[in-house]
Amino acid sequence: MALRPVLQFPDKRLREVSQPIAAVDDAIRELARDMCDVMYDEPGIGLAAPQVGEQMRLIVVDTEWTEEGAEPNPLILVNPVITESNGTLQWTEGCLSVPDFEAEVERAERVHLEAEDLDGNAVEIEAEGLQAVCFQHEIDHLDGILYIDHISRLKRNRYAEKRKKQLRRELEED
Ligand code: ZN
Repeated sequence: MALRPVLQFPDKRLREVSQPIAAVDDAIRELARDMCDVMYDEPGIGLAAPQVGEQMRLIVVDTEWTEEGAEPNPLILVNPVITESNGTLQWTEGCLSVPDFEAEVERAERVHLEAEDLDGNAVEIEAEGLQAVCFQHEIDHLDGILYIDHISRLKRNRYAEKRKKQLRRELEED
């Protein structure tokens, strides 16, 4: 089965604000499964629905998994909201939708997250460090925000230029 392609900067669909999910149905469950497949295949530690072209408030996160080690154990979160955040830290982030780049971003160090699971049950999670960063990064996607929006305009513009040249080259090669 073909994996869903991940949209990449500067695709405008990554800039849309996603809609809350009114009720989890089979289509949502299938989308969540597809997103996990993409996340583990890439591999990544998180993915938001808009990255695969679905403007819905759904994220999958697995900060424990490594290619060699642990069994996949994804957190699948519907309508996630950060209700409290504390402290700050700097974290070097990358994104499957922002190819060939990483940059240091300031984030909250600890967050309290509320969401629903695929059975419609309320979920509350206290997270810190990498997992807290990952939640903030993925929820940003639901609001059309990319992590490069949190870095300096100079660095962002430089990346955008580089990416433009890269895409032009790819077009020429086709
Ligand atoms: Zn991302």
